[in-house]
Order: sequence, then C-alpha cells, then structure tokens
Amino acid sequence: MYQVPEIFGSMVFNDETMREKLPKDIYKSLRKTIESGNDLDIEVANVVANAMKEWAIQKGATHFTHWFQPMTGITAEKHDSFISPANEGSIIMDFSGKELIKGEPDASSFPSGGLRATFEARGYTAWDPTSYAFIKDNTLCIPTAFCSYGGEALDKKTPLLRSMECINTQALRILRLFGNTEVKRVTATAGLEQEYFLIDKKLHDQRLDLMLCGRTLFGAKSPKGQEMDDHYFGAIKPRISAFMRELDEELWKLGILAKTEHNEVAPAQHELAPIFTTVNSAVDQNQIIMETMKNVAGRHGLVCLLHEKPFASVNGSGKHNNWSLTTDTGMNLLEPGKSPRENAQFLLFFTAVIKAIDEYAELLRVTTATSGNDHRLGANEAPPAIISMFVGDDLEIILNAIENGIDYDGDGTVDERIQVGVHVLPPIPKDSTDRNRTSPFAFTGNKFEFRMLGSSQSAAGPNFVLNTIVAEELRQFADELESAEDFSSALDELIKRTIKEHKRIIFNGDGYSSEWEEEAERRGLPNLRNSVEALESFISEKNEKLFKRHNIFTEAELHSRSEIMLELYSKAINIEALTMVDMVKKDIIPALSNYTSKIAENIHTKKQVLDQLSCHAEYSLLEKLSEILEAIYTRITELEKEMHQAHKCKGALNTAKFYRDKVFSKMNEMRFFIDSAENLVEREAWPYPSYADLIFRI
Ligand code: ADP
Ligand code: MG
Repeated sequence: MYQVPEIFGSMVFNDETMREKLPKDIYKSLRKTIESGNDLDIEVANVVANAMKEWAIQKGATHFTHWFQPMTGITAEKHDSFISPANEGSIIMDFSGKELIKGEPDASSFPSGGLRATFEARGYTAWDPTSYAFIKDNTLCIPTAFCSYGGEALDKKTPLLRSMECINTQALRILRLFGNTEVKRVTATAGLEQEYFLIDKKLHDQRLDLMLCGRTLFGAKSPKGQEMDDHYFGAIKPRISAFMRELDEELWKLGILAKTEHNEVAPAQHELAPIFTTVNSAVDQNQIIMETMKNVAGRHGLVCLLHEKPFASVNGSGKHNNWSLTTDTGMNLLEPGKSPRENAQFLLFFTAVIKAIDEYAELLRVTTATSGNDHRLGANEAPPAIISMFVGDDLEIILNAIENGIDYDGDGTVDERIQVGVHVLPPIPKDSTDRNRTSPFAFTGNKFEFRMLGSSQSAAGPNFVLNTIVAEELRQFADELESAEDFSSALDELIKRTIKEHKRIIFNGDGYSSEWEEEAERRGLPNLRNSVEALESFISEKNEKLFKRHNIFTEAELHSRSEIMLELYSKAINIEALTMVDMVKKDIIPALSNYTSKIAENIHTKKQVLDQLSCHAEYSLLEKLSEILEAIYTRITELEKEMHQAHKCKGALNTAKFYRDKVFSKMNEMRFFIDSAENLVEREAWPYPSYADLIFRI
C-alpha cells in the first residue's frame, strides 16, 4: 500500500523537484523567467532540459513530447524518443535546451481558420514554463503554446496566457490606488468541476452513434429515469468506486488535487472536482483529467462519455468554471473583507465583474458554443442561454442600498445604523444564501461560478474571456480613479454609477422560468439560443477592439477562431447525420422490415388455424409499424438530400446555419419516428441496447 503524500505529484517536474534537481543559480533564473514571463536563456534551458531528462528517465520515461491544445479542443502530442546515436553504433539519451523550448510539429493538419492561407503552414510549439512538465505513459510531456510561423495563436493556451498578463496589469493598477505596494502579481484562479457518464463498454460498442459521436442519436425513454432523485449523492457502486479509486491515484501522481467525487443527478452520471489553481494550470489539468478518465475507464471495462448530452431525457453534463483573482500575497480579491477599506476594494472588483458580464455577455456565451452544448443550454437542466448574474439576496440588498444612498442596517443585529457610503460599509455576509442552480453565473461567496460550459469543452475559452473583459473594466476604472482629484468620492461615485448602469444583469430568481425569458428581453439582455447565433456575434467590432487593446487577438486571429468554431459545429453535425443515415439504413430499416414480416406471418399462421380469429392487435401493430417505416424511409432520403445541399454552401457561417436549420432539424424529425418504433417492437428485434440497458446496467 502506498502513502498518498508519497505518490502525490511524483510524476510532475514541479517546483519542489526543480529546486532539488537544478543548481541554485539555474533554479533562480528559471523562477525569474516563470514569474516575469520573459524568454529563457538557452544556457539555462540546456541545464533545465538535462535535469528534466535525467529525472524523467529515472521515472521510466523513454520519450518526450510537446503537449499542446489545438483548436479542436483536445490535446495533441508528437512523441520523440530521447535516443540519439553516439559513437560506434551506441546510443545516448539526449534532450537539449533547444528541444525543450521549441518544437516544430506539422501544423497543416490542425484547424487554422484561414490563417494558413496568409501565413506559412509551419507551426511552432513553445514551452510554457508556468505549467509544469509531467510524465504520462512513459513520456515526458512538456506543456506548450502552439502558434503559426508568424506568431499567430493556433491554440487554446496562447490567448489564455496573454489574458493572464492583462488581468495582472490592470488589477495591480487598482491595488496601487488602494495604497497596496506589496502585491507583485495578480493571478486568475480556476476550479473546474467535471461531469461525466460511465457506461459499460460492451454495450457502448454495440452502438455506432456512441462510438463515433459520443452521444446516442436516438433511443426511447427508459421507463425509469432520474425522477426518483435516487442517484444524486447516492451510494457508489463497487465497479464505479474501483474506477474512482484508480482515477484519483493517477491524478494524484500528476499532482492534481482530485478531491470530491460523487454521483450526479442522472443515473450513471458522476462528477469530479479538483482543488483550484491558477487558470493556466487548471485548464491543463482539466485536459489531463478528461484524458485520464477515458483511459482508466477502459481498464475497468467502462467507457467515459464526456459529451454534453449522451442521452435525451436525462440530464446532460457540464463543466462548472469557478473563477477568482488571487494575489501573490495570498489575498482573494473577490472575497468580502473584514474592514470597510477591504470591502471598498472588494466592491470595486465586484462591480467590475458586474459591468464586464453585462457589457460582454455575448462574448462569454460564445465560449460555450458547440453543437453538443446546444442540447443543454436552455433545456431546463442547465442554465438558460441568457447570461445573467446571481449575487444572492444579501448582496443585492447592499448593492441597492449603495445605489440609492440609503441606510442599511447591517445584518440586522447591529444597533447603530450604518451609513452606506463605500467607506463605511456594513459587513458583507459571506455566501449566506442558497446557491441558485439555475443561474449561469453565480457569486458563491468568494468566487464566481460559470455554469454554461459544456463537459467536453476546453476551459480555456471562458477563462481567457473572463480575464480580458474584467481587465478591460479595471482599466477603465483605473483610468478614471487615477485622474480623480479626490479618490474617495470618485470611488463612491464610480461604484454607485456602475451598479445603476449594469444592475440589469443581476437576477436572483429562477432562470428556468419562461417569465425570466420575457423579463430578460424587457431588460435588453441578449438571448443567443444556439451556437450559430452566438458565434455570429463573435467577430463584432466591439470584441475586436477589446482583444486588440489587450493584445489577446489580432483581427486575423479573431476571425480565424470564429471560422474554426463554425467549422467544428458543421463538421460535428455532418458526422452525426452520416452516422444516423448509416444506422438507419443498415440496422433500423432491416430490423423493422423483418419484424413487420414476422407479424404478418404470425397473422397468416393464426388465420390458418382458425379463420374467424380477429388478430386485431397484430393488424394494428403491423399498420403502425409499417407507417413508421415509410416515414423513416422518406426522411432518410430527405436527410441525404439536405446533406448534399450542405456541402454546396459557401462560407463557414452560411454552412453552419444550413446544418442547424436543415440537417439538424431533419435528424430530430427522424428521431421521433425511430423512438416510436423502438417502443413498439419486441426486445430481441431492436438492434441496439436500450436506454435502460445503457444507464442502469453497470
Ligand atoms: P461547492 O460547495 O460547490 O463544492 P467549493 O467551495 O468546494 O464549492 O468549490 C467548488 C470548486 O470551486 C472547487 O473546484 C474549488 O477548488 C473551486 N474554488 C474554490 N475557491 C476558489 C477560488 N478562489 N478560485 C477558483 N476556484 C475556487
Ligand atoms: Mg458547482
């Protein structure tokens, strides 16, 4: 039996290992690079590379790879072995500083959204020393950013790293205004709760839709679903618990603090929440978590489904993004303070977030736009597609009081009535209200929880957007306050005005209700119902200006990103449609044809025995199934026609719209008939495992 502290982080070249394995001056110089974000000196890199290699070989590694996150949302790696030829046919294990710092994978097979047309096809990976190298499958993985020959970002990490710089710059300006000269760096932090399904591999492999699309394209509702609420936090089955134990172990070795694991709302659905860390590491770790879940599941005869909606009629999966800002002195900037002074600072950061979400709601929505996530958002199980903010009743009362300049009687127990000006603030209660599960963006005491992200998505999107939009508001605040004659009154006025102008984004009620949809429309809040609508707003002038100002994206990078996301949307639906056609033609139509013949034969046989037998039931069933079979057959032809048309569409946006309006809607029509048929045929005659099999047989 191992000791957890012993294995924890044993496969990570983390700070402790660096300190141990590197000469003092090299370690210092590397730390400086990590903290300042400057380029690493090649001499230093050579020493680091050698130490890393020695350490990795000792742990059994034979290869190394630049591990990066292209726009496809999954991670990519190209393995090279450490082996180099030496004298007289012998070999040495070699790894240079140059190889550590820079790689040159063939970029041509990764989506570039048109960047390739203007720039060279070559791509570079560059070491991100702020994220630790680790060993996985006997391979030393070096986290890297991935960009084009001209330096254009081709990945998810680059904008995230850039955004960490801009939030640091602007947050520091605010802290200085409050007289804080101690803090050297402000970092955004994230804790990512990951939902997933586990199903039996044998059953999974009998369904082409699960194998190719990660979700079922049809499937009649199981007689029992999640209505009994007996799964949530329920006892964990032994097979699942063995999986979770091994998963924890693997993640601990990689230095990931997997802490809570419990069953989720839907049957066969679970959740893992690691302890938060800097956004950059949290996003990397989440990618590793998703990959490890899939691998470990395989070793237990299970399949881990990360799709946002593997099964209709039971809840889908999301990824909750908890986000906050922390200083190198250990202060959480979104935690209400004890003194009025700390509270004023808290309120300034808090209102910056309110303003950011109100002004850039559409942009935040864009980061969750995928065809898979369209099944979740607005479907009364996940947040609605309308972005709003939950702040809780207590904070809302305080914000109201500040806005209207009225007295507020603290927590009701304090005798003296406290004058609400920003400098004499009442104590702000920490997280005293119930969590509102229907809100897409909820303040949970000392952090914000963004709940719209899909389970399979990279968490880089919402984090680089949050960093950037909040940095933008802090920039405006700092500009105003730095030039103010009287800081205190300017601060009061700024907070008051911001609340007044942006409180429309605050909503503490039920986000699932239809009243909210109407109310949101009255308030003028955007409701981008599907991915294509959301993505259409991505390349607006406003966003372009924002990203340029903070050096996140050039115009070309922004456009390429929008293009790639639209293309991925269309491709996903195209694969689903092709899979559906294949399954219908090869399995479902033959199954229905055979089964209806069987009924007809039964009728025939019965009639031969006794002429006056009515066979009402059989006739009726035969009629219904034959009609359904006809309906399916007609629609498959129509679907194929639409898909053919889709290929002729010009432009990524038009194509995506066509897939949404014509192809996807035809698939839904088809599904209705297939599910009706499944409900009517005998168990053995249906070619696929049922929903009940998939979600209850574990
Ligand atoms: P819950 O009651 O929802 O379980 P927790 O406080 O346990 O709330 O937090 C849920 C997630 O939020 C965890 O992944 C946790 O690490 C993360 N989290 C907590 N504090 C912060 C923070 N300051 N910044 C980012 N994430 C955080
Ligand atoms: Mg949560």
